[in-house]
Amino acid sequence: MYSFSKLQTYTNCPLLYRYRYVDKKKVKKITTLSMFGGTVLHKTIEKIWKQTTLYNISTIESQASDYFVWLWNTLYQEHTLWWLFTQHTLQEAEDFKEKYKDALSVFIQKYFIKDIQKNFATWSDIKHHWAEVRVYCDLWKEKNNTKKLVCIIDNVLYKQSNNRIKDLHIIDYKSTYREENLKAHTKQLYTYAYALLQNEVFAQVKNITWTLHYVLSDYVETYTISKEDIEQAIDTHRQNIDTIEQKIFYYNFGDSNAFSPQKNQYCWSCEYKNICPLWNKN
Ligand code: SF4
Repeated sequence: MYSFSKLQTYTNCPLLYRYRYVDKKKVKKITTLSMFGGTVLHKTIEKIWKQTTLYNISTIESQASDYFVWLWNTLYQEHTLWWLFTQHTLQEAEDFKEKYKDALSVFIQKYFIKDIQKNFATWSDIKHHWAEVRVYCDLWKEKNNTKKLVCIIDNVLYKQSNNRIKDLHIIDYKSTYREENLKAHTKQLYTYAYALLQNEVFAQVKNITWTLHYVLSDYVETYTISKEDIEQAIDTHRQNIDTIEQKIFYYNFGDSNAFSPQKNQYCWSCEYKNICPLWNKN
């Protein structure tokens, strides 16, 4: 079973892919304050989308804020954030919490309430929405190729007319905008669109749009997706999977260099940095 993040790991660094998914080496994962903040922010947004009908629009901001603080404090205590305590002071952690909480308020005031009012006034009703949906699909049409792709999609909105779904909108939430990540994030949404379109429910879809929402940066990108874009993204996945499986074959037959290390922007937080030949020269 493949997922977008698994395939992205391979694109970023083949050796990291081997450590994580082939050797399954057990090491302590690094949790940084910004990763932690991103997780709490993401889970809060997921919660408010899932429970939209239960909220009163005038109190939603304070309810979301209360939930955010509760979740932050709970996870903060539950997790042994050893890294956090060695790299940051408690005051810095508190400042981070305030920064993420403020970003959540901006998100609700500036986007969430407007999205609800705009989309659901015209998009039939609020039932036409899924949050944190898990979709499985085949990557190859041939029946004997059973490799599956799983996608967990933050938000799917769809518009129905005459019992047919013609418009599909996919939203993915991220924390911080960085131009160099935009290409990979876009590809992620093409992959999600492909997974959704394999489902019969969406067979009649004509228009697909996506939004990448960088909550901490208060930055939004919205585009229309063409079927060619989707096919191109999926073709790259198919090629990568073929290469990965070939490398696993050689690796299992003794080629220890089948997966090579590749320095990238995430090396600093790589949980295998201590054993990586590019960093550990001893
Ligand atoms: S430290 Fe960087 S190059 Fe080494 S395995 Fe991790 S991601 Fe790859």
